[in-house]
Amino acid sequence: MESRAFRDAMGRFATGVTVITTKANKEVHGMTANAFMSVSLDPKLITVSIDNRANMLKKINCSGKFAVNVLSDLQQDISMHFAGQAKKYDEIPFAMFHNVPIIQGSLASVVCEVDRTYVVGDHTLFIGSVVDALLTEGNPLTFYDGKYRKYQPAEYV
Ligand code: FAD
Repeated sequence: MESRAFRDAMGRFATGVTVITTKANKEVHGMTANAFMSVSLDPKLITVSIDNRANMLKKINCSGKFAVNVLSDLQQDISMHFAGQAKKYDEIPFAMFHNVPIIQGSLASVVCEVDRTYVVGDHTLFIGSVVDALLTEGNPLTFYDGKYRKYQPAEYV
């Protein structure tokens, strides 16, 4: 199968958008990611999949802690910034929660400790044990077919 066809097929799965944040050696680092999912309720576990070449990989391996910030539709600029698509911000609105940097205004900021990691092909799965979560009201930023999208509730009949 061609890589392009695989990527296109994966792009047909609509997702939200997150920014993963961590602090290692006193330096805060953020990275946009949509490969995020809930794994287990008891214990509370989530996973994120990070490219083995990403700077974030070393940062989380060093800190052992990270947050997953679920972005709202008002935060597309933040997503683009942390994907390296556009330098929109000089000052990022970070706050600290359980000693982990989070992005203010996110719909949810889920703080995790690294429970275990799995190197799978060219990515690494970080299983995070959830410490706490902070919630804000709003609508999600979504991503589908390689583009940011606006969220719209379905009509029920
Ligand atoms: P860098 O390239 O080093 O940093 C990313 C950007 O954030 C840079 O512009 C940097 O200047 C800025 N930045 C970082 N920390 C700070 C700070 N403290 N203050 C100000 N600016 C800062 N990749 C994956 O591995 N997994 C995914 O699930 C994934 N999903 C994605 C989903 C979407 C919608 C998009 C657009 C991209 C996704 N990517 C994913 C790609 C990933 O976001 C980029 O490749 C990213 O640049 C790699 O991050 P890095 O850790 O190497 O960070």
